[in-house]
Amino acid sequence: QPVSERRSAWLEISESALAHNVAYIRELTGAERFFAVVKANAYGHGLPQIVKAAEKAGVDGFAVATIDEGIWLRHFGIKKPIFILGVTPVEYVPDLATFELMPVVASEAWLDEALNILPADKTLIASVGVDTGMGRIGIRERAELERVVAKLNAAENVAFKAIGMHFATADGGNTAYFEQQLQRWHELTDGLDLPADIWRHLANSGTSLWHEQPSTDLVRVGAGMYGFDPSQGELAMREIQPVLSLKAELVHVKQVEAGSSISYGATYTATEPEWIGTLPVGYADGYPRALQGMTALLPDGREVELIGRIAMDQLMVKLPEELPVGTVVTLIGSVGDKAITLVDLANKMGTIPYEIATGLSPRLPRKLV
Ligand code: PLP
Repeated sequence: QPVSERRSAWLEISESALAHNVAYIRELTGAERFFAVVKANAYGHGLPQIVKAAEKAGVDGFAVATIDEGIWLRHFGIKKPIFILGVTPVEYVPDLATFELMPVVASEAWLDEALNILPADKTLIASVGVDTGMGRIGIRERAELERVVAKLNAAENVAFKAIGMHFATADGGNTAYFEQQLQRWHELTDGLDLPADIWRHLANSGTSLWHEQPSTDLVRVGAGMYGFDPSQGELAMREIQPVLSLKAELVHVKQVEAGSSISYGATYTATEPEWIGTLPVGYADGYPRALQGMTALLPDGREVELIGRIAMDQLMVKLPEELPVGTVVTLIGSVGDKAITLVDLANKMGTIPYEIATGLSPRLPRKLV
């Protein structure tokens, strides 16, 4: 896809907010290791920018979803541990070893095949995945887990580094299912013959922000590091700061007469002479069409409404008065004490902030600030 640099719409990535969030979550959890979850283009924030900021913030490792995301990090120069959260197709085990990536061993069958094709002169780093109730990937029965642990311990070219699980409800007010999963974790893993220095990793952002830590070996944090609230306001707000802002400059400003309509479908009609500004951002940038009627912020903090349909590459705002072309409008982010967050957008859409963030298109330039 073509580079996208010469645009008057962009994302700003705040290094200081990210550093604050990492330090804050480290302090809150007492975790020895902080792994930055940077899958899906760093939750849409921009992988190179976030990785640079996370390295500066002193994270201990990275977590991604796919082997290619892991290899990209190695090519980018990352030497730290890289954990692949999703199941890696077993035929890529030699590549996992070459690039020193840590896959999840989510079944005995996967491990058997992996050991079968692992070249004798290479070492596979491994983390065992335990399914305690997420119901997605991982080993669910004690007997299988014992066999997997025994095989990992016995294999000469395996570095058995970690064992983990994932909570399904750590960011909700009802803790019953969380407790049930934790109990199942203990039933499945207590007394296993694990290496003494193994990393037990259970915590995502919700677990890090709102629970007593089941283990302080390692936390895997996405949302909290990016500074958005995974509970969407359900739980007490923590002192995390949004890392991302979406800004654009007015590229066209005009006054329309009463009766003039704006954008596809002519869904908005001016009732009096109105000043209309056009921003070069649209649903193809990941600003969803369903956000018609949302607000944005002017440089002095005044709110403006998005009027008419959001188009693929452009949208219109109703201005309080004539403003110069080039005026910066904040679609996500804060101006003074006013803020529009990923959570605000997600709430309006009936979705989660993760989906809004990961939808932000690579066409938007990302600037570290
Ligand atoms: N761990 C696993 C296994 C995940 O799948 C994810 C994200 O989906 C995370 C950790 C990070 O979650 P969060 O962004 O809520 O911290």
